[in-house]
Amino acid sequence: MINRASGAKEQGPAGTQRRIAIDFANTIAGPIRPTHGRGWEALVGFLEEAAAVGPGEGARLRALGREAPSRCAGAVIRALELRAVIRHILDAIAQQRPLAAEWIEVVNRALRAGGGTEQLVAAGSGWRATFVPERHDPLGALAPLARSAAELIVEGPTAPVRRCANPRCVLFFYDDSRSRRRRWCSMAVCGNRMKVAAHARRRRGRLLRPN
Ligand SMILES: [Zn+2]
Repeated sequence: MINRASGAKEQGPAGTQRRIAIDFANTIAGPIRPTHGRGWEALVGFLEEAAAVGPGEGARLRALGREAPSRCAGAVIRALELRAVIRHILDAIAQQRPLAAEWIEVVNRALRAGGGTEQLVAAGSGWRATFVPERHDPLGALAPLARSAAELIVEGPTAPVRRCANPRCVLFFYDDSRSRRRRWCSMAVCGNRMKVAAHARRRRGRLLRPN
């Protein structure tokens, strides 16, 4: 299950590739954990849903999970480290703070890991470029995540990366709305919740005010 909260429908083509890293950062509220091989399944499921790997690749990566479970579990640990670093990076971009050299090193390490190639696959009536990881190295699964993070880093402080304005929400999003004034991961979830809370606060304020 992928967290769609960063708003696939609200994003244009520029946001599509960058969204993979943001959606991955948002899985912190979801199922990618290093538990008993399920972490690998969840990671592969995420990569497929994010279209970071083609459907054939997903099946191959699942088979790799059965053939080399401990190496795949190791790759999940590395993916979780990468996720933590991506969250630091998104936070820093959102607040226009500089990025730490050690975060860049983690992304670079993931870019180097495993190797693989960009390949064209049929998508509807057209074509889509997709990353095909190296055949036998589970670490190859990290590369598309790292490449997406790298795009955001290259875009730099002007990248419209935001953290949801709900202080209790952990989700990031890429704001390519026309006004660039989006505040919530999702209007349906946090937007409404925060509006209801603000309304309740105003109402309490009115009730407490002496007249
Ligand atoms: Zn939110």
